[in-house]
Amino acid sequence: MIVTTALTKRYGRVLAVDGVELAVREGDRYGLIGPNGAGKTTLLRLILGLVYATSGEITVLGQPVPARLRTVLPQVGALVEGPSSYGHLSARANLSLLDAAGPGGARRTRPARIATALERVGLARIDERPVKAYSLGMRQRLGLAAALLRAPRLLVLDEPTNGLDPQGIREIRDILRELNESGTTVFLSSHLLAEVEQLCTRVGVMEQGRLVIQEELAVLQAATGRVIVHTPDAARAVALLDGRVESSVDGRLLVRHPDPAELNALLVGEGLRVTEIGPERRSLEETVLAVTSAGSDRVDSAPTAPAASPAAVPPEPAEPAAVPAVPAEPAVPAEPAAPAVVEDP
Ligand code: ATP
Repeated sequence: MIVTTALTKRYGRVLAVDGVELAVREGDRYGLIGPNGAGKTTLLRLILGLVYATSGEITVLGQPVPARLRTVLPQVGALVEGPSSYGHLSARANLSLLDAAGPGGARRTRPARIATALERVGLARIDERPVKAYSLGMRQRLGLAAALLRAPRLLVLDEPTNGLDPQGIREIRDILRELNESGTTVFLSSHLLAEVEQLCTRVGVMEQGRLVIQEELAVLQAATGRVIVHTPDAARAVALLDGRVESSVDGRLLVRHPDPAELNALLVGEGLRVTEIGPERRSLEETVLAVTSAGSDRVDSAPTAPAASPAAVPPEPAEPAAVPAVPAEPAVPAEPAAPAVVEDP
């Protein structure tokens, strides 16, 4: 669905995206995580053609980006850098404009499309108040409704639960899971590890512009080969397991053993009481913290380009206004103004 090869984006001395080899497969719920400034948003913007790469290649839905953006974007729902809409208009008016701008379908079926999108995100009974009167959570839902209008094959979402309360986060998670089950591939960024852990099937971790991990969540959370045992008979268990107990604190033992069921049978067979037992798993948080450093925006002290002289750092080329002009194809109609895909002011 999305493949990048040696994708690099440099902003002056900052290497925002550094040789990224991303692979989002059809049917994935892919979560991109990483500390602030790791390059997540820049990577999403590159994929949506909102900024040009310094080098490397991008393929989305089998088509090169940005060259074939016009073919790709109608099949992609996107919400990048927060929801954006016309504040003086209502949710329905905003969605109506967006629908009219894109290849959504016939005009007479527009109200039904809009109603379906609003219902999906929990805004079915929204009134005609202007969007500027909405809470951030409502605007976030509206942004998602905009991304859903086209029944996209691929959803690209930057921090989709930003500003939502726990109930809202759960609802968005359910919506995304449902959409994924009905065939939409979901690619999102987040710095809420728990959110990614609960929703995603595949995880990418970015650190200082590089994609340092890309793996199935199940693999990342695989058992460590140790078993956690809670027992009121800790001293006897330590004696019985002779050398296999790595730690014993307040009745909680960490035991080197491949099979909790077998270990349980052994302990119970010897008359020891076991109140809780299970495999030790590394949490996503531990995995991420192990490969990421302090995690904040950085400015490289010196460019990693061949020469260190300031002249070696080329001036930043002008960014496309929103979606770049598409070589060999007419300019992309309407997408730049579409509230679903948001460009920096
Ligand atoms: P956050 O989670 O805080 O949004 P992020 O992982 O999305 O962070 P990016 O916003 O992609 O990170 O930023 C990566 C790096 O690129 C940062 O050092 C940032 O300051 C820099 N950067 C991003 N956009 C620009 C820009 N338009 N001009 C200059 N530098 C930029």
